[in-house]
Parts: sequence; C-alpha cells; structure tokens
Amino acid sequence: MTVAENIRTILEELGNTKLVCVTKTVASLNINEAIEAGAAIIGENRVQEFEDKCDGVLPCERHLIGHLQTNKVKKAVEFFDVIQSVDSMKVLQEIDKKAEDIGKIQQVFLQVNIGKEPQKYGFGLDEIGQVITEIRSLRNIRVTGLMCIPPYVPSEQARPYFKRMKALFDELKQEHQGKEDNIDIRELSMGMSGDYRVAIEEGATMVRIGSAIFGNRHY
Ligand SMILES: *Cc1c(COP(=O)(O)O)cnc(C)c1O
Repeated sequence: MTVAENIRTILEELGNTKLVCVTKTVASLNINEAIEAGAAIIGENRVQEFEDKCDGVLPCERHLIGHLQTNKVKKAVEFFDVIQSVDSMKVLQEIDKKAEDIGKIQQVFLQVNIGKEPQKYGFGLDEIGQVITEIRSLRNIRVTGLMCIPPYVPSEQARPYFKRMKALFDELKQEHQGKEDNIDIRELSMGMSGDYRVAIEEGATMVRIGSAIFGNRHY
C-alpha cells in the first residue's frame, strides 16, 4: 500500500474523527503525498526537525505532539497552529509570553499523564483543575483540547485510560460551556496506530497516526 492509499483508507474508516498524520522522521516529499491524498493536519514531535523540513511541506494545519522545552517555545509558537503536548505551568507561561510577542493567540491542548507513568510527560488528573484556574489569566493562550498517551499495552487494555480521559473531557466541556474564558475544550486527542479504533469507541475526536500510514520508523 502506498502512503496515499493508506491515508484514503484511514480517512474513510475515521469518518468524523479527525486525523493527525504523524510525520516525525518522514521526509517532506512523503508528507506531501499524504497531504495531497487528504491529510489536513500533520503532527511533529520535534521543533528542530520540523524547522529543518517545513519549507518543503505543503500548506496544512500543523500540530506539535512531542514534549516541548522552554528554550524551544519561541519557535514552536512560530511554527505550530496547535501545541498538543503542553505539560507544565512553566511552559504555558512561556508560550503565553512568546505568543504575545508576535500578537498570536496560541491554541494548546493539555497533555494528561493518564497512566501516572513516571517516565511520561503530562499533568496528573488531579492537577488539571488547578492548572485550568491558572490558565485563565494567560491572555495569549486558548485551551482547545486534551491529549494523552496511555501506557504501552495491548489496545483493549488501554480502554480504561481512554474512558477516564473522556470523562474528564465531558466534565471540562460542560463546566466551561458558554463561559467567556479561554478554556474552550473541543478536541480529545487520543489513539495511535495500535489503538485508535478503541480510542474512537471511547470518544476520541482526534487520533494521531504515524506508522499505519508511513510504515515503521527506523531511528
Ligand atoms: C509517534 C507518535 C504518534 C504516532 O504513533 P504511531 O504508533 O506511529 O501511530 C502519536 N502520538 C505521539 C505523541 C507520538 O509521538
């Protein structure tokens, strides 16, 4: 199967669920094949890698999905429409500052460490309430979604984590509905090549798929 065929098959299967086509380690030529076949959003892990290849990439919506260090925030704000991998107040404050500098309202998703794994980034479930309170004063940020990477387990075992994310998503959506604040949660980004079907069953509005489109990555 070619990249274009994979994109078309997956888009058909996803229906209304949005696809983030994960293009880390993929050359711009192949990224463009995906975009021409209908991929509207691409996801990259590293700011530097994307800076190096973005000139060759066709117009599309660009999401950062990898951990962001504060010293890379300026460029991340410059290059990405959405930063899905926001995982600390410190990085939020820096994003707010750099966005203000260029007159941008930066869309972000909050990454939740749903499996409470010490080696993974993300806010704890119990931190989210406090974080959202603090974000209200950051005028150059708009929170439009939640993102998670559940523990690396067979897809059926990831289901409870997806369920927990969906519950949080529904709760926050309801709480902020109609409020004039910068919390406008619309997207629930969860599910990758191995588990996106389960994630969709549990309410994902957006899945992030790489290897099922481009084949296995060779680092
Ligand atoms: C690499 C990556 C993906 C895609 O993983 P695949 O298993 O290749 O589909 C999704 N989300 C994040 C955050 C990633 O780093």
